[in-house]
Amino acid sequence: MSRSRLASLSLAVALALSSPLATLPAHAEVPLPADVAYPGTIAIDVDATDLAQRIFKVRQAMPVQAGPLTLLFPAWLPGNHSPSGPIDKIAGLKISANGQPLAWKRDPLDVYAFHVDVPQGVQSISMEYQFLTPTDRDQGRVVMTPNMLNLQWNAVVLYPAGHYASRITYEASVTYPSGWQAASALDVAQRSGDVVHYQPVPLDILVDSPVYAGRYFRTIDLAPGAKVPVRLNVIADAPKYLEAKPEHIAQHRELVRQAVKLYGAQHYDHYDFLFSLSKQMGGNGLEHQRSSEDGTDTDYFTDWDKATGSDDLLGHEYTHSWNGKFRRPADLWTPNYNVPMQDSLLWVYEGQTQYWGNVLTARAGLRPMEASRDALAMVAATYADNRPGLEWRALQDTTNDPIIARRRPKPYRGYQMSEDYYSGGQMIWLEADARIRKLSGGKRSLDDFAHAFFGVDDGAWKAQKTYTFDDVVATLDGVVHADWATFLRDRLDGKAPLTGGVEASGWKLVYKDTPSAYAKAQMKDAKGAASFIYSIGLNADKDGKVSEVRWDSPAFDAGIGSGMTITAVNDIEYSKDTLEDAIKAAKTDKAPIRLMVKEFDRYRTISVDYHDGLRYPQLERIAGTPDYLTPIFSPRK
Ligand SMILES: [Zn+2]
Repeated sequence: MSRSRLASLSLAVALALSSPLATLPAHAEVPLPADVAYPGTIAIDVDATDLAQRIFKVRQAMPVQAGPLTLLFPAWLPGNHSPSGPIDKIAGLKISANGQPLAWKRDPLDVYAFHVDVPQGVQSISMEYQFLTPTDRDQGRVVMTPNMLNLQWNAVVLYPAGHYASRITYEASVTYPSGWQAASALDVAQRSGDVVHYQPVPLDILVDSPVYAGRYFRTIDLAPGAKVPVRLNVIADAPKYLEAKPEHIAQHRELVRQAVKLYGAQHYDHYDFLFSLSKQMGGNGLEHQRSSEDGTDTDYFTDWDKATGSDDLLGHEYTHSWNGKFRRPADLWTPNYNVPMQDSLLWVYEGQTQYWGNVLTARAGLRPMEASRDALAMVAATYADNRPGLEWRALQDTTNDPIIARRRPKPYRGYQMSEDYYSGGQMIWLEADARIRKLSGGKRSLDDFAHAFFGVDDGAWKAQKTYTFDDVVATLDGVVHADWATFLRDRLDGKAPLTGGVEASGWKLVYKDTPSAYAKAQMKDAKGAASFIYSIGLNADKDGKVSEVRWDSPAFDAGIGSGMTITAVNDIEYSKDTLEDAIKAAKTDKAPIRLMVKEFDRYRTISVDYHDGLRYPQLERIAGTPDYLTPIFSPRK
C-alpha cells in the first residue's frame, strides 16, 4: 500500500468517526470471558423422551447474583470450526425467579446472547425452553428417530457470559425413552429408572461429551485388559445390524493398538466411540477428546466388502483425540463458544488427521493395502487434475471455508474449492513423510513427528496443549533437519504442487480405462452415480443429472453446466452404460459425442469433441525407486 493511499484512508476513518454512525455501539454488549470460576453449580435437565415430535425439553437451574446477566447459546462449535450453533431451533424460552417471570432481551448485535436483569434478593433463576430437532433433512441433521437419538449439549445449553467454559460447572441429567441405553464420555453418577444423572463437569467437558442413546445398543471392548478403556458403543436401526463378526472386532481393536503405538500417549481416561448404524438418523463424524460421534449406514458390519474394507471414519475421528483436541491450534482455541475461532492451521488439524486416519485404517487391516493405494490414487488425481481452483486460490485460503460456506453444496466444487485443507493437507503430509524417510535414509518417518508432537503428557486431557506454525516446523526439524517452513509454505501458498508425495514415495499416478475395485465400490455406494470426471469431465447421478463439471474440461468447454440433466447420449436414452459405451466408441470414431441435455424445461444437444477414452486414476510403481508407501500402510509390530 502506497503512502498516499494510506493518507486518504486515514481521512476516511476520521470522517467516519465524526459521523452520527460512529455513536452506535460497534459490538454486542456481552461480557468477555475471564479465567474466573462461576460461583455455584448449574443444573441442566433434558427430557429426551418425545421421539414422535422430536423435541428435547430443557430445564436449567442457575445460581445468580442480582444485576445484569448475559446468557449465551454456543455459536462457535469445536469440530465445525464455524459459527454454526443451531440457535434457530431454540424456542419457548421462559426465565423465572422465585416463581415470577423474568423478562429477557436478545442482544441486537449478537443473536446468540440474551440479557436479563436479575432483581435484588434473587439467588437462582429457572429456565425452560426446547431444542426442536430437525423433522426433515432440509432443516439439518436428523438426530431423533424411533430407535435412537444424538444429544449434543451445545444444542441445549444456555450458559452465563463472562467466564471461561472451563470455569463453569454443570450437573447434567437426561430422561431417556423407556428401556434405552446411552453412551457418552460423561461418567454416570447414578441411574434411576430412565433418568441418568451425570457427574458434575465444567462446561467445556460437557460440550465435548455428547450422548448417543438407542433402543438397540451394544458395547464392544476395543482394548481388552488395557489400563485405559476404549469402547465401541453401537446403536442401530435394528438388532441385526449390531452383529459384528469376530474378525471385524479384531480389526477395530487393532486400530486402537496401532493408534496408541503411533502416538505413544493417550489423552483420555477412557474413550468411547459413539457409533450409529442408521438410514434414519443423519450420518456424522465429529471429534471429541474422550469420544467421537460416528454415524454411517446400517450395513457397516453386515455387508462388509473384503476387497475394499471400511472407510477411514473411525480412524479419522479417533486421531482427533490427539490432533485437534489435546493438541489444538493456538488461534483455534477459544475460552468459550461465543468468541470467534481462527482456522489457519486446519491443514494440520484436519490435513494430518486425514493422513493418519487413512494410514491407521490400512495398518489396522480395516482397509486392504491395494484398496488403500486406490483410495490414495483418487485423492492424488483430484489434486493433480481436478482442482483448477488452485489457480486462483491457495490451499491456505481454503481454511476459511468452514466460515465461508458452512458445507453448503457448491455448483463448481473444483473451481470454487472447498475444505481442501483435508485432502490437500493429506497430500502435503504424505510428501513430508516421504521426505523424512529419504533424508534419514529410511531411519525416520512422520511416525516420529506424531510421537514427538502428540505423544507428550501421557494421561493429561483436561487442558489442551496449543501449538503454532513454528511449533510444527520445530518438531519436524527435530525429526530431520531441513527447511520445513519453506517446504510447508510453498505448498500452502500455491508455489509448489500438492501431489509431489506420490512420486516421492515411489509411485506414479496413471489413468486406466476401468475403475479400481475401490472406486467401483464407491460408485456402488453412490447408487448408480457415474464418474467421467477425468475423461469428458463430469460426474452424474443415476438419472443423468450432472453433479459436478470439471472446469475447462471437454464437457465444460462444450457448454455443459452443473445441474443440467443428460437425457440422451447419441440419441439413446441416458444411462451410465450408454455414456460409457459412447466414450469408448469415440476413441476410434472421429464424430463428437452428442449429449441431449435438459435445463429447466428446455432441451438441446451439446457436442463434446472428446476422443481419449475412459480414464480412472490408479497408482503404479516406479521401478528402481524406494517404495515408501508400502511401509507407510503396513502395521507396526
Ligand atoms: Zn476431522
